Parts: sequence; structure tokens; C-alpha cells
Amino acid sequence: TDFGYKQVKTEEKEQLVAGVFHSVAQQYDIMNDLMSFGIHRLWKRFTIDASGARPGNKVLDLAGGTGDLTAKFSKIVGANGQVVLADINSSMLNVGRDKLRDLGVVGNVDYVQANAQALPFEDNTFDIVTIAFGLRNVTDKDEALRSIYRVLKPGGRLLVLEFSKPEHELLNKVYDFYSFNILPKMGDIVAKDGDSYEYLAESIRMHPDQETLKAMMETAGFEQTSYHNLTGGIVALHKGFKF
Ligand code: SAM
Repeated sequence: TDFGYKQVKTEEKEQLVAGVFHSVAQQYDIMNDLMSFGIHRLWKRFTIDASGARPGNKVLDLAGGTGDLTAKFSKIVGANGQVVLADINSSMLNVGRDKLRDLGVVGNVDYVQANAQALPFEDNTFDIVTIAFGLRNVTDKDEALRSIYRVLKPGGRLLVLEFSKPEHELLNKVYDFYSFNILPKMGDIVAKDGDSYEYLAESIRMHPDQETLKAMMETAGFEQTSYHNLTGGIVALHKGFKF
């Protein structure tokens, strides 16, 4: 049956993603800097600025991995706020927790191992949910968006930072060449793990484009949805509200 087929595919994807992130966790930060020429820092800074985070807010950094966004939110929300770094992968969580503790980011940060598709939080808990470079790894994105919607407070917002579709065909071609030919080679040389970086390129190509993701957010219940292209649409920041 169709159902049986989908089950197998789902399990396969989950195992593949788990394997990739167990494998890359230790090298994740350095590879991020190398592969994006450091630009991921600007994309993340833009996300923080667009989030409207304020002292006292409760923030969920979903698929938070090694915690770049969590570290920044922790400073903004302060002692009366809280940041939850949630990730499905124990290796990424461990690397993230060690890094943030070394940076002195403690006190208002909690770590939770959780699947975006079934968040273990009460309804109406968070002022802000971010998911940066995480959604494309999630098997059932619609279910994840519904789960995020549920845990947001009324008036709360979701920010999705993710690879998207370059606005111009030439950039698209250059970028495709980079992702499929150069990126896996860099992964092979630096992290001794070309396969994981090939998965990365494929997952980027398969991910819904700007308008499709916006529509998916609306289907999940989000309102006043919008997106902002970064670096020519290589990355987009989507935003939506729960009212
Ligand atoms: N947000 C971090 C950043 O921007 O640097 C990490 C991004 S990393 C590319 C993607 C993360 O998504 C990994 O840490 C992975 O374990 C996590 N992830 C994948 N599937 C997930 C799921 N279903 N639920 C929660 N996290 C998931």
C-alpha cells in the first residue's frame, strides 16, 4: 500500500538525517564557516534582529544544533527570560551545550531532545520560535509547522531561516555547481565525510521554494506571513504570526 511505502521512506529519511548529524556534529561549526564563507553569521544576525526578541521573552530555538541563535537570544531575553534549545540529535545537542557553557551562556538556557513534529511543550508557551537550517531535515514539515503553531503564544511569531531558491538563473546555476561539486569535496577533505555533504546539497535542492513554504505556513494556521530573501535568495527568512 501507499502507506507502507511512505512508512519505509519516512524511517529511511529519519535514519539518514540522524546519521548525518551524528557524523558532522564535531566539525559542524567549522564546516559552516568554511562552506558559507562565514556568511551564515550574517544570516543568523539578520534573524535575531527580525525576531523582535525582548527581555523576558520565552524563545524556542528549534533544531538549534550547536546553539548559535540560542547564544544570541540568551543575551537579549536576560534573567527573566528563557531560551530552550531543542534538537532531535544527541550529538548536536552535546556539542551545542559544551560550546555554550564554554562561552558562559548559562542560567536562562535549557536543552531538550525533541522532534519538531511532536514538541513536548504545553500549548501557548513561547513568544518566539526559530528554526534555522532545520526544517528541510524534518520528514513531515506540515506536522512540524502545526506543532510549532500549537506551542506559540497568541501574538507569538515563527521565524524559519532556510536555504531557498536563488532569484536569478545564473546564480542558481553557479550555486548548484557549488553545492553538488565543490561542497561534497570540501566535506570529504575537511570532515572526511563527503556523503553527509552530498545529502546536504540534495536536501537543499529538494526544499520548498519561497512561495511554497509561505503557503505551507498559512495552511498550518500562520497569519501575516512574509519572507525576505538573503544573498540573492540562496537563503530566505520566513516569518509568520499566531493570533
Ligand atoms: N540551527 C543550527 C544552525 O543554524 O546552525 C543547526 C542547524 S543543522 C543544519 C540542522 C539541525 O536540525 C541538526 O542539529 C539536526 O539534528 C536537527 N534536526 C533534524 N531533524 C530534526 C527534527 N525532526 N526535530 C528537531 N531537530 C531536527
